[in-house]
Amino acid sequence: MPEGDSIHRVAHQLQPLVGERLEVETPHPRARVTGVASRLDGRRLLGVEAVGKNLLLRFEDGLVLRSHLRMKGRWQVLERNGGSTRRGMPWLVLRGENAEAVLWHGPVLELDDTHVRRLGPDILADPPDVDEMVERIRAADQSLAIGEAVLDQRLVAGIGNMWRAEALWRAQVSPWKRLGDVTDDELRSVLAEAAQLMRRSLDSGLRQRAVYRQAGRPCPRCGTPIASGGQGDANRLAYWCPSCQEGETPGTV
Ligand SMILES: [Zn+2]
Repeated sequence: MPEGDSIHRVAHQLQPLVGERLEVETPHPRARVTGVASRLDGRRLLGVEAVGKNLLLRFEDGLVLRSHLRMKGRWQVLERNGGSTRRGMPWLVLRGENAEAVLWHGPVLELDDTHVRRLGPDILADPPDVDEMVERIRAADQSLAIGEAVLDQRLVAGIGNMWRAEALWRAQVSPWKRLGDVTDDELRSVLAEAAQLMRRSLDSGLRQRAVYRQAGRPCPRCGTPIASGGQGDANRLAYWCPSCQEGETPGTV
């Protein structure tokens, strides 16, 4: 029986497909009736993650495909069309530019968007729905610091700690600035920087870091030492330049 770690291995093997628009087929009759192929074919795969023994494949437009292998199911990752001599009927075939993933013996394959419906617009959508993000952020408590707001997945989905730090630095906005003091232009600039950096990272693997984990080192823009400090309920470390990122800064960190 596939355990969590082998699901994680599969999630890792499927990474080459992330970022690509996929051809999706469900040859097996029991899989065909799920309607999965018609809903997912041609959509971009945004991420693959193992959650317990489930494999979650997150597609654009908030669609999440859940696969559970139970006793017999297994994934196979091949070169594209490497399965031309394939025998039998797989449950699912995901075909990217160079690779294809094949799921044998299902048996659980379902589209679930109940969870993602609660999430904000995806920062990696193409193009990202910045208007909707701004609307959600403006509907939130405006005494919240912007650094906390952009990590709240109900307001905008997908930004993590590193990209929050880098996007705020590029937009020259302090993570401590309260939403009520942040202009719409600044907000849009932060979101646009995050989208651009993350898209570039997805496409090229490039992860340039100006401030993230750079505490004490000189700011690449002005030379002031980078500061860091815990922020929000989760106390996740924020990184910022106290000189060129405009906005209030906590007295001591
Ligand atoms: Zn600076």
